[in-house]
Amino acid sequence: MEKVECVVVGAGVIGLAVARRLAQSGREVIVLEAAEGIGTITSSRNSEVIHAGIYYRAGSLMARMCVSGKHALYSYCREQGVPHRNCGKLIVATTPAETEKLASIRAHAEANGVADLQVLSGEAARAMEPALSCEAALLSPSTGIVDSHAYMLALRGNAEDAGAAFAFHTPLLGARARGGHVEIDAGGETPMSLSCKLLVNAAGLGATTVARSIDGMPVEKIPPAYLAKGNYFSCAARAPFSHLIYPVPEPGGLGVHLTLDMAGQARFGPDVEWVDSIDYAVDPVRAERFYPAIRRYWPALPDGALMPSYSGMRPKIVPPAVAVQDFLIQGPKDHGIDGLINLFGIESPGLTSSLAIADYVGDLAEA
Ligand SMILES: Cc1cc2nc3c(=O)[nH]c(=O)nc-3n(C[C@H](O)[C@H](O)[C@H](O)COP(=O)(O)OP(=O)(O)OC[C@H]3O[C@@H](n4cnc5c(N)ncnc54)[C@H](O)[C@@H]3O)c2cc1C
Repeated sequence: MEKVECVVVGAGVIGLAVARRLAQSGREVIVLEAAEGIGTITSSRNSEVIHAGIYYRAGSLMARMCVSGKHALYSYCREQGVPHRNCGKLIVATTPAETEKLASIRAHAEANGVADLQVLSGEAARAMEPALSCEAALLSPSTGIVDSHAYMLALRGNAEDAGAAFAFHTPLLGARARGGHVEIDAGGETPMSLSCKLLVNAAGLGATTVARSIDGMPVEKIPPAYLAKGNYFSCAARAPFSHLIYPVPEPGGLGVHLTLDMAGQARFGPDVEWVDSIDYAVDPVRAERFYPAIRRYWPALPDGALMPSYSGMRPKIVPPAVAVQDFLIQGPKDHGIDGLINLFGIESPGLTSSLAIADYVGDLAEA
């Protein structure tokens, strides 16, 4: 059985950031990835937004890691030449009741360390975005967008430069905790067995399955798994916006919002559709709910402009009735197995938080 210091399962943005962090701190790292390349699952099915950290529960891992991860991500992108744009976002209120909510959103953001939100009158918002219809708005200057593929390529390059190795088409099939080390069975067509001192389970949607396949992992510590699909529609017409546009959130979701990619192409979504299995097809009928929601802030959205685009799956660890969850990152003190770190429920803002999550895992590994 081959011995290696650290094994990271999953080469999504989280596994890549963790592999980079561990390799740069001088550890021997091998990344096992079931797919053919990096970032083919949830990490390439998201909005690519660098979130400010406005809404998360104060003190939660999401709140803390989003804010610190955002700063780290902007610095990283600048240093590594990763395409990104600090375009800002507008949260738009279209009714008096929503306008009243803006002050409490700003106060909540401040408690999370996001102190730069500015309340704008409808006129001031329209001076920035003339096509917008709203009563008032909140400007979030620190929100931005990033080319997530360029970001993941840069992380992989850093990890490899620091000595990390990648094995693709190599799913983890099972593992055994053996007091101080973990034995792993991996590989599809080419089976391999490894013994490691540290196993980091960053398998995204597969994280609970991976945890269940580890002999010795207490099952009561493994959270349940649910799927909340997010559907996107692209816009055939040119959307006349340079900021991201979000409605005031409603209970259960952020509302139908407009984000931009690095090429300036607008997309709407993601919505929230709880599903039982993974199917990424976008049902065109869902556009019927998007049109009225978008026209509340962009009345000129032309008929027929919305085209089904892509979707992503949120790795939920709470059922629909709970809806709000936090990242769940478990080390040996949480589950009792030396050398195992599990990452569960890494949904949005996982991309924004990735460097902060990697630091947290690196610190856990050194504890
Ligand atoms: C609709 C949607 C929109 C989002 N928008 C944003 C956003 O705008 N901003 C933001 O900050 N975050 C956003 N997120 C969150 C972000 O995309 C995720 O938090 C992040 O991509 C999770 O990365 P990951 O590495 O944990 O998972 P993944 O990217 O899914 O990677 C996990 C990897 O593990 C591999 N794997 C699984 N099982 C095994 C196994 N047994 N053996 C080996 N490999 C295995 C998979 O093949 C996969 O490559 C969004 C998420 C969704 C769903």
